[in-house]
Amino acid sequence: MEKNFYFSENILHAENLNLQEFAANHPTPFYLYSQSRIEQNCQAVINAGKGLDFLPCFALKANYNPALLKLIKNMGFGADVVSGGELVFALKAGFAPSKIVFAGVGKTAEEIRLAIESRIHSINVESIEEFKVVQKIAEELEILTGIAFRINPDIEAPTHDYIATGKHINKFGITFEDALPLYRAAAKHPWLKPVGLHIHIGSQILEAEPFLKAADYLIEKVDFLRDQGLPVTVLDLGGGIGIDYTEDFFETTRWPLPQILSAFVARFKGLEIKLLAELGRAIVGDAGLLITKVLYKKQTPLKKFVIVDAGMNNLLRPSLYRAYHPIVPLLRRNAPAEIVDVVGPVCESGDFFAQDRKLQAVEQGDFLAIGGAGAYGQALASNYNLRPLIPEYLVKDTKVKTIFKGERIEQIAQKFEW
Ligand code: PLP
Repeated sequence: MEKNFYFSENILHAENLNLQEFAANHPTPFYLYSQSRIEQNCQAVINAGKGLDFLPCFALKANYNPALLKLIKNMGFGADVVSGGELVFALKAGFAPSKIVFAGVGKTAEEIRLAIESRIHSINVESIEEFKVVQKIAEELEILTGIAFRINPDIEAPTHDYIATGKHINKFGITFEDALPLYRAAAKHPWLKPVGLHIHIGSQILEAEPFLKAADYLIEKVDFLRDQGLPVTVLDLGGGIGIDYTEDFFETTRWPLPQILSAFVARFKGLEIKLLAELGRAIVGDAGLLITKVLYKKQTPLKKFVIVDAGMNNLLRPSLYRAYHPIVPLLRRNAPAEIVDVVGPVCESGDFFAQDRKLQAVEQGDFLAIGGAGAYGQALASNYNLRPLIPEYLVKDTKVKTIFKGERIEQIAQKFEW
């Protein structure tokens, strides 16, 4: 695997771009993505599915920047959407409707209508009541609608509680027992086409084992449905493969994606079925950095704080899940290490990027790179404290494209009635 982020002469580079120089000439904070890294991740997914009937999809929830969507679409991917907004972006980015799947526990009638009218591949139904709404709208529109049932398999995923989705305690999916009569009804319905089953057990999973368990579960259910004479042509395997958020991030040594995905899909060999995957984090997560500037340092009786110009409104994961993100200065100096909290300017004590972290001593005006920020970074950003969204850049070799200009406060003001 290529190193996309690395130190050369003590300066952090993204591909062949000197980030210290770039940060010195652009307002901070900003997101920056490595195009080659995204391409490598996509290629690894494609390779894992070679020899199988396999459609990899990108989960827009991880990052919906149109430039990234187009890049990933051009690699041959489909799209996994969870809202009408994501569906609109997927269509605008040029994803073929036949390569779009729509999941989510709370789809509105309007969103379902848009999905059916757009003739997407399938709606992943997550409850009995949702099934009835899909059925009613498909009848009204008289459009043959592909549906899959998102099954909650009650499988444990070793990850944070907030991003584990495949246990019965979670709101996601429907039990196989509840789905079975709906599957039968759909098979007889003139405007519904049950294509198969969907599963997504959680996110940021770094072991193959839970996926293999999910595979065995799915295979058993496919056999069962087929024995009942029901058509099963598609299995949507969800996403969930994790990335390396440790300090090794900047050495680019760990890449769980190829191995886990290959092991997962290999389990289905010989099943005569089309496989879909819906990966988000594993495609863009390790391709993105959040670059921020040190505003102030401050010593309190108990702690040393490094106050930076990015906040929890830009990257929420540490505040939301206590997620660990690796942090390095763009310029490595021969300075002693210190134990610090790296915090933002937002008026919340939960506004931190690192707590009690050993970091090279930094000065006012130094730049820091926060790694693993390509997924669920800008996508989860908000205007909290009336802080405008920040720019996004895409790097290939030394070339940089602005793919989001960032917001100005006047643009936010214009959305309101004054
Ligand atoms: N598919 C579904 C249904 C999801 O809920 C999610 C994430 O929550 C994903 C795919 C993408 O997950 P990840 O980014 O972990 O690959």
